[in-house]
Amino acid sequence: MAKVILILSDALRYDVAKDNMGFLGHLVESKLASLYKIVGELPSMSRPMYETVHTGVPSSVHGIVANSIVRRSTMPNIFQAVKDTGKVTAAAAYYWVSELYNRAPYNRIDDKEVDDTSLNIQHGRFYTEDEYPDVELFASAASLVRRFSPDYLLLHPMGMDYHGETYGSDSKEYRNHAIRQDMWLAPLIQEWMNLDYTIFVTGDHGINKDGAHGGTTSEQRDVPLFVIQPGGEGRGDTGEIISQLRIAPSVLRILDLPIPETMKHLPL
Ligand SMILES: [Zn+2]
Repeated sequence: MAKVILILSDALRYDVAKDNMGFLGHLVESKLASLYKIVGELPSMSRPMYETVHTGVPSSVHGIVANSIVRRSTMPNIFQAVKDTGKVTAAAAYYWVSELYNRAPYNRIDDKEVDDTSLNIQHGRFYTEDEYPDVELFASAASLVRRFSPDYLLLHPMGMDYHGETYGSDSKEYRNHAIRQDMWLAPLIQEWMNLDYTIFVTGDHGINKDGAHGGTTSEQRDVPLFVIQPGGEGRGDTGEIISQLRIAPSVLRILDLPIPETMKHLPL
């Protein structure tokens, strides 16, 4: 059965990912993965883009137009679509994801660790501090995969955003963190490929030299999309620019689930 892991690295710029993530670069160079550029939807803000990535519709349609809008998603989305067909969902993610798909507002005790098949995110491990170490979050995600074999898992680390906002994107701290994420992910990606997962690696938005995002410049909106398929077929660096709205229908297509009418963009 096809399964998907989406690694949504917060504020992972396209250029910095391409230049500094060497294991992913190896998979692309060896045509074991495909690399696309995404010119992200707007505003290039976190909560709006979490919802855009998961619903396949722009912010003006899903209504999460600012980080300050704290409510559950009202649109068909990946978590709900997967859970409603009896498949298993999981996430290791920032608490805003719990608010969008499980419960809002977030309760840092009751909602932090959930294992409940009635929730859209059935197995959730959430964090509230931007500086929460990515390496710990990656271990939580790896544990969820080993214990529950989720059909869909979201892994959402905040380290790129934290280092970018603290030091700016033109800094050794931001670039070096991309190297570290790639280093931590390499053995996990190998393990998950062997378990027949299709793995997407992308960002919700970019970030600029001032350590800000939200605007329309390419540094704030361009993110990578690496697609790693079990069996290792890839197209290498495609040079193609694709819409962020294609991620949600692509995930559902791989899982062999119907694509809701609201998702108007073609799967990859
Ligand atoms: Zn973000």
